[in-house]
Amino acid sequence: MIYQRSSALFAEAKKYIPGGVNSPVRAFNAVGGDPVFVKSAKGAYLYDEDGNKLIDYIASWGPLILGHAYEPVIEAVIEKARKGTSFGMPTEVETALAKLAVSMVPDIDKIRFVNSGTEACMSAVRLARGYTGKDKIIKFAGCYHGHSDSFLIQAGSGAVTFGSPNSPGVTQGTAKDTLLANYNDLQSVRELTNANKGDIAAVIIEPIAGNMGCIIPSEDFIKGLRELCTQEGILLIFDEVMTGFRLGKGGAQEALGIEADIVTFGKVIGGGLPVGAFAAKEEIMDHLAPDGPVYQAGTLSGNPLAMSAGLAMLTELDAKPEVFKSLADKTAYLHKGIEDVLVKNGIPHQINRFGSMMSVHFTDEPVVDFNSSAKGNNETFKKYFHGMLREGVYLPPSAFESYFLNDALSYNDLDFTIKALENIVDELK
Ligand code: PMP
Repeated sequence: MIYQRSSALFAEAKKYIPGGVNSPVRAFNAVGGDPVFVKSAKGAYLYDEDGNKLIDYIASWGPLILGHAYEPVIEAVIEKARKGTSFGMPTEVETALAKLAVSMVPDIDKIRFVNSGTEACMSAVRLARGYTGKDKIIKFAGCYHGHSDSFLIQAGSGAVTFGSPNSPGVTQGTAKDTLLANYNDLQSVRELTNANKGDIAAVIIEPIAGNMGCIIPSEDFIKGLRELCTQEGILLIFDEVMTGFRLGKGGAQEALGIEADIVTFGKVIGGGLPVGAFAAKEEIMDHLAPDGPVYQAGTLSGNPLAMSAGLAMLTELDAKPEVFKSLADKTAYLHKGIEDVLVKNGIPHQINRFGSMMSVHFTDEPVVDFNSSAKGNNETFKKYFHGMLREGVYLPPSAFESYFLNDALSYNDLDFTIKALENIVDELK
């Protein structure tokens, strides 16, 4: 495949945009080479600026669960746009999306919309602090909750890919209120709660992690975490920016059978437009302004285009819940196909999968937390990524990211992908 025009566009972008991108992982630093500039997309396929067609396994990092340019979403946005794009006043569509989201997700009464997953998590933590009157939070190494200051402490995703899990610019004062535990290690949480009795407002976690590859919590860990939070009067925040409306109507809460105190959303809830949200029981949500003292706001929050895209998306998922099963089946099929090729060729690997999220790690050891994920062989990963790209398959360009399958992928696409791996597997030896 030729990437001439993409490379030229990247060179031009770098003159005016730091690193040529508006979000770091897009720049391909982890895998080397120039990024692909996309021109359009439909269903499971990306069409780039050089005229290549690629099978897409990131779906805009999760939102496009039903495939690109999904008709009901596109129609809803076009129709709304003709009536005005932003008012900064209440609109009926906000309530429609809120009502539907609350009906789909367990244990929430009210939801507030923002513009990104970052804002959702940032606001959820402020709410937890305002509600409990405590300052400190616990996060897990390798989990990513957006780029707001409190979370750039051993953060996953692009932050770790670029070697700055602790970003310059975050003050010591902020950093000291974020305590760090290890994923799948309840004892590490217990040590922190014992050492900081009465000071912890919240524990925030990706209930299925997707920012150090895909990592699944053990049952003991996630249940124990819920119990510990309840005992200690700590709010448990599930960051469901990736998992919400992807693992099922009720997201990870439903899939794991665990109730969180506050839940954050992003990605699927906006149908591909910029939407984030956070939600909880009424008693907690009523602490937010204007009903309560915890301030939170946004000029474009509840934007009519974004709300109508989200409403069209969730309406589809609510009406066709079989889509979650179909996606999980496709992901399992891909998992098996990739595994068979890697086993046959003696390539050490681990594949983690939950629902329609999965990741391939080139290591012998089970990947259960940040440290085990970081042991993956990045040289092999780079060859895997670029080999697959050459064959027409677009995978996440970092070993710390999850695949997000979309339901427009056909079994032919999955077979094509497995065949692509067969074609390049010798390069991984
Ligand atoms: N939380 C999680 C679990 C995420 O994966 C992400 C982004 N990938 C965020 C929060 C931040 O969302 P956004 O990029 O929309 O700010």
